[in-house]
Amino acid sequence: MSNTVSRFVLPHVRALAAYTPGKQPKDGGWIKLNTNENPYPPSPKVIEAIYHLLENDATVLRLYPNPESTSLRSGIAKLFGFEPENVLIGNGSDDILNLLIRCFCDQERALGWCVPSYSLYPVLVAMNNGKIIDVPFDETMELDVDSIVNCGANLFILTNPNAPTGVVFSQEKIRAIAERFNGILAIDEAYIAFSGQDSVDLVREFPNVCVLRTFSKSHGLAGLRLGFLIGSLELVSYLDRVRDSYNVDRVAQSAGLAAIQDIAYYADIVSRVKKTRDWTISQLDKIGFFTYPSAANFVFTRPSDTKGKFGPNIASSLFDYLTDNKILVRYFPKGKLTESFLRVSIGTDQEMKTFINTVKSWLKNA
Ligand SMILES: *Cc1c(COP(=O)(O)O)cnc(C)c1O
Repeated sequence: MSNTVSRFVLPHVRALAAYTPGKQPKDGGWIKLNTNENPYPPSPKVIEAIYHLLENDATVLRLYPNPESTSLRSGIAKLFGFEPENVLIGNGSDDILNLLIRCFCDQERALGWCVPSYSLYPVLVAMNNGKIIDVPFDETMELDVDSIVNCGANLFILTNPNAPTGVVFSQEKIRAIAERFNGILAIDEAYIAFSGQDSVDLVREFPNVCVLRTFSKSHGLAGLRLGFLIGSLELVSYLDRVRDSYNVDRVAQSAGLAAIQDIAYYADIVSRVKKTRDWTISQLDKIGFFTYPSAANFVFTRPSDTKGKFGPNIASSLFDYLTDNKILVRYFPKGKLTESFLRVSIGTDQEMKTFINTVKSWLKNA
């Protein structure tokens, strides 16, 4: 390749490796259990809100959106008992994660994260030419409060419930970190709806603590790109300075407001997903796989053969077999703690029955 462009590019960009998202197949017929999307559609009120917005030939799309996402901020603030100025809206929570790193990380001031958790964080740090500090889990996948508190990071992103394990951390431990960590603590609660024990109250107490949410998982709106953060007035005001002024489009602002207000609809689909999750775990237990207790809409399971043997070869053999049968799951081959596991999103009851039956037929030949 010629170096016409590359000799001008910033060194940290030249060294970048882009995030690898889960596959989004273009042809039909797949059972998609690889990116933790919701198997159920968004609330009918969301569709109504979008139609309503597009009435009168959608002329409203001619105009820029509200730069502050004012209505949506107010709606969310009201729901959680905060002021609108405590809320920041993002083009997906990935957008907000990027803003946090833009605000609080550079070559001297590191992002701390637990490994394994959401593998986008190190990519965002690399994009922003920042430094990263790994705090590794052991096989229990439980939080080590002291290592987090003492890691020396300026910003720590804690994923609760964790991904890809699904393990939820106790509020006692999270509070202990909030009390002792000398930096910004961001709690990424992408999957909290499937678990229940959130950390929003810590935001009221600690101005350096914030909580992130997304509409992608519990609200069935991954295609819309919408997330939010709740934090102190001071924290949100800094994030607002580094945000694109029109970071959230009109459609997403209206749809998001309708979504958060339809509490009953979402309580119902979340409880269906949880029921299917618990059924799936019980089936995997019967088959003899080890699975971490999950408080999310996915499970992290370690396949084993009929002799009880497990390892990276066994995990990748099942991954390939599932793919051959048009079932997509996620495999993280890099890392001792993940290489023998598969992460499986919870789909509909029918999809999970097909998944379990396919695992059983793999087992016959394993
Ligand atoms: C899916 C996910 C997100 C991304 O949310 P978007 O709103 O779709 O950008 C953030 N954090 C974690 C841990 C996730 O799993």
